[in-house]
Amino acid sequence: MPLYVIREFDPWRSPLCTCPPKYSFQPYTGCSHSCLYCYARSYISRFTRGSFISRPKQNLIERLLHDIRIIDKSKPINMSTSSDPYPPEEKKFLVTRKSLSILLRHGCKILVTTKSNLVVRDIDIIYNKPVAVMITITTLDDNLARKIEPGAPPPSERISAVQKLAENNIPVGVRIDPIIPYLNDDLEMLKELVKEVISAGARHIVTSTYKADRVSFKQLIKVFPEYEGKWRKLYFEDGEKIGRYYYLSQDLRKKFLSIIIKTADNYGITYATCREGLPLRKSPSCDGSHLILSQTIRA
Ligand code: SF4
Repeated sequence: MPLYVIREFDPWRSPLCTCPPKYSFQPYTGCSHSCLYCYARSYISRFTRGSFISRPKQNLIERLLHDIRIIDKSKPINMSTSSDPYPPEEKKFLVTRKSLSILLRHGCKILVTTKSNLVVRDIDIIYNKPVAVMITITTLDDNLARKIEPGAPPPSERISAVQKLAENNIPVGVRIDPIIPYLNDDLEMLKELVKEVISAGARHIVTSTYKADRVSFKQLIKVFPEYEGKWRKLYFEDGEKIGRYYYLSQDLRKKFLSIIIKTADNYGITYATCREGLPLRKSPSCDGSHLILSQTIRA
């Protein structure tokens, strides 16, 4: 029987993905966060004629209830992998909140991945349930974040969300993803960022460098034309092509990623990289899904 809104997770056809088997579920089409580096940009614009505004999927709840009857509930559901489940529109539509509550009532395990502090609104329904949250924070600099993730809440608010979730015993990790040369690659800032999120309560870090594809690269050079030449050299001359993407050279990737994982390791929390093909992981899962069952389920 076909699934309508829950899908087997597709890591953008990457041969380097190490995610455990999982589903992905996006309550929204489009993503108002409009991150310049978004790997889903070409996919999103195919369905929205170029608009990135988040819109709830049609007949979402009805189709979700259909899929819940079919899926293997031992596999986690990642909300979401190609649009954020907490865009500003969620304040009005509440479709993520409704979906979460239905999925949990039916015994599903959920990994929430978001760039929004709005997730704390739903603590009342995710508390004491098989849910973990991964919050993406790419920089401590609110001004830079406003340029690269124009529709998302500032990093300072996301760090407060990490703290609030941790205080409420919701397992939470942070994605420092992607690291983009010349924008958020300052090694001291990356170290500080790791320390701040750990002191806020993050228990797992996933990190990754930006991988260039045609659509996101075009967006980046539109906003940062001054780096076009340097990026072209790093990616298209000195870098390597893996699957559909242009990567930085291994040495440069190791340099950026090492500072993050060393700092995480010093503080004794788990860490992993995402689609890097490098042996830089100390964690049962890369994506944070191992945190799901670590939430203390109280009777
Ligand atoms: S939040 Fe995620 S899906 Fe949304 S625009 Fe940013 S990278 Fe893309």
